[in-house]
Amino acid sequence: MMKYAVIGWPLGHSMSPLIHNASFEAMGLDCRLEARAVSPSQFEQFMNSAAREYHGIAVTLPYKTEVVRFCREQDEEVAIIGAANTLMRMPNEEWRAHNTDAGAVGRSLRSAGVEPRDKTVVVLGAGGAARAVCFQVIADGAARLIIANRTRSRAESLRRDMCAFFTRGAGVETIDLNEHTLRNAIAAADILINTTSIGMYPHVEESPIPRGMLKKDLVVFDVVYNPLETKLLREARSAGACAIPGAEMLLYQATEQELIWLGEKAKKVDINVMRAALLKELGRSL
Ligand code: NAP
Repeated sequence: MMKYAVIGWPLGHSMSPLIHNASFEAMGLDCRLEARAVSPSQFEQFMNSAAREYHGIAVTLPYKTEVVRFCREQDEEVAIIGAANTLMRMPNEEWRAHNTDAGAVGRSLRSAGVEPRDKTVVVLGAGGAARAVCFQVIADGAARLIIANRTRSRAESLRRDMCAFFTRGAGVETIDLNEHTLRNAIAAADILINTTSIGMYPHVEESPIPRGMLKKDLVVFDVVYNPLETKLLREARSAGACAIPGAEMLLYQATEQELIWLGEKAKKVDINVMRAALLKELGRSL
């Protein structure tokens, strides 16, 4: 059996075992992904021995950045974003780091018929998910990117990192995450992407944006996937906006992980198998 793991701390929220194991089973592969809660004090030791046990690792909070230093190779997205969510064991038992979150952002937007090219995009948050989102919307040709974060210095750091790698493309600005600045930014926006954890279970009655700011001609993408429909998405739909759920990104990044881990063997990977497992678990329909 080929063993895989998702690592993080704490790990209670991870849907990775559920969706990957459903997919492995549907493809008839003798593979299994298990949840490994690795505490910060165990992390270094775990990474030094993990290649003896696992063929690949899915990485979640808080290790997406730290894990990169244990990898011999990394793809271009990892170098720019500064974080990895997927490790692939190479034949020499060294790790190669990948980031499938960014590509999943692009696919989630495109599958809803949305193209960032020449658009104004407002991103709420400046953490790990925001890095992948900002990378992808700039790579996809956004004209203007406005990053709003509670901690302004973190938004600035993200802006600097993006500007260092993209000499053309979006003009990147940062603003504070408050009602006044958001009102002006959203008035100018075509696409709004929430990457903060506001609205995530169990705080399901919270939204990062007052309802009155949502408008019909806005695309609202919330990367939070639990609940499947956040308050932000619910209010966006009722304002007539296009609402894209974070579950799409979760599923796309997982299918990409399997292609990296399994190559040809994952040719038959089916996002709908993963989607069905996720919907069953989260108990609602997308
Ligand atoms: P992270 O690195 O810890 O960043 C969290 C972000 O949320 C930061 O910008 C933080 O602001 C902001 N934030 C948290 N609580 C806030 C509050 N009460 N008010 C204002 N801002 C607040 O986490 P992450 O990895 O980016 O994950 C963020 C969310 O994205 C989570 O819900 C996660 O489940 C989801 N996610 C989804 C996918 C997917 O595939 N759909 C992938 C990755 C992540 P400060 O900088 O000020 O702390």
